[in-house]
Amino acid sequence: MSAYNPQRTRNIFSADIEKSFKLSRSKIQDFLNCPRCFYLDRKCGTGRPPGYPFTLNTAVDTLLKKEFDCCRIEGKPHPLMIKHGIDAIPFAHPDLDEWRQNFKGLQFVHEATNFTVTGAIDDLWVNSANELIVVDYKATSTTKEITLDEEYRQSYKNQMEIYQWLLRQLGFKVSNTGYFVYCNGDASKGSFNEKLEFSISVLPYVGDDSWVEPKLFEIRKCLEANNTPDPAEKCDFCQYWAAVKSHVDKEPGV
Ligand code: SF4
Repeated sequence: MSAYNPQRTRNIFSADIEKSFKLSRSKIQDFLNCPRCFYLDRKCGTGRPPGYPFTLNTAVDTLLKKEFDCCRIEGKPHPLMIKHGIDAIPFAHPDLDEWRQNFKGLQFVHEATNFTVTGAIDDLWVNSANELIVVDYKATSTTKEITLDEEYRQSYKNQMEIYQWLLRQLGFKVSNTGYFVYCNGDASKGSFNEKLEFSISVLPYVGDDSWVEPKLFEIRKCLEANNTPDPAEKCDFCQYWAAVKSHVDKEPGV
């Protein structure tokens, strides 16, 4: 049997509880995707079953972090920064390791909604104007040119803007421009030979975090309501369940 529990008893919102309610970057994204699924998860305790962990992506993240950490210790730019003409060095801060940890991360209590907003960053750089630069590592394998234009990559942009917002709330000066360090595994080789080679793109993105705070108020309103919101218009899971239900409803005796 899997460890999935369809009726959680922890991390459930209640307007009666005075303690600040934890709201991670990924839960904000869940709300953006579908307020109904978010409500069922955070208010009713029934979250979607988890997916499988992306362990290869995690390995790429870990190696990149190690590489950038070496430059951080030396106070020098990483060769990728030099190659792409980025005027920055990796940012050193005693809390950086904590800011990178899932379930800890950057944390800010937004008093007006009483949410503790959290987000675990991959990396921070700092430019010569002393502005922090949010950096996110991504891994993929594609023969197509890597851009941020595809629809599902909107969530990456949201992610970066939430981190920029969090850092600003914590009192840091933050550049609007962040970077995605994209590692693309080359699967075009004739054989594997126990090696996967990557090419790395560094994609700048100019963020706008002005939507984050209004969204927190919307989320609070959603959680305080006593009715389940409508489902998202485009969702494969709900379409699947509607089709399942229509088959079951046609069975004799139902
Ligand atoms: S549309 Fe349905 S399954 Fe999809 S996210 Fe919303 S509630 Fe969940």
